[in-house]
Amino acid sequence: MAKPERKKLKIRCGDSDCNNGLHCFRVTARTVSNFAAGTCQACGADPVDWQRVQQRAPGDVENTFASLGHEFVRTYFMQLPAGEDAQSYARRKGRIGLHAAARKRLKQSIGPAHPFRDGTQTPMLEDSNNPIWNAQHATATCCRRCTEYWHGIARGRALTSGELDYLTGLVTKYLDEKLPDLADEPSAVYRLTKDTGNE
Ligand SMILES: [Zn+2]
Ligand SMILES: [Zn+2]
Repeated sequence: MAKPERKKLKIRCGDSDCNNGLHCFRVTARTVSNFAAGTCQACGADPVDWQRVQQRAPGDVENTFASLGHEFVRTYFMQLPAGEDAQSYARRKGRIGLHAAARKRLKQSIGPAHPFRDGTQTPMLEDSNNPIWNAQHATATCCRRCTEYWHGIARGRALTSGELDYLTGLVTKYLDEKLPDLADEPSAVYRLTKDTGNE
């Protein structure tokens, strides 16, 4: 029996809601904008101190998270709750295992100099079964383009292990905030199927 397809989200990286302070800083060749790089490409607002964010100081991640909150797509994923499947994925791994999986996922998805089909490697799903993917969209570690314009790491070369450590720290901060009750160790999870009637 074929698994039902997970629903793709209708939002796009270029979306913005500028009146509500949710911008889009992504510069693309397609949307040649009148606004300078680093400002919102839809309205020209300039709420982010890029130099500060791009110092990538582990002690300054609160400011980095607040800055990410100025972008529509990041805020969307910051606010998206972890669904049932994502929670059971996390429980099967435990917090320690989930953190290890986050680093492995970053290394594989954005670690290489030229990731396969960069920009499409991190699924954007409404009912994602992997909380790490949502964490990557929220923290701009989903592809090398986002990692470049947010975190100031140029494309075209492999990430260093220090860079991977820093970016993993952003992802695990998101996961810890989303899953505050997650035990350190893996726990057995009994999957509820859709037709048991249980919530
Ligand atoms: Zn804007
Ligand atoms: Zn991206």
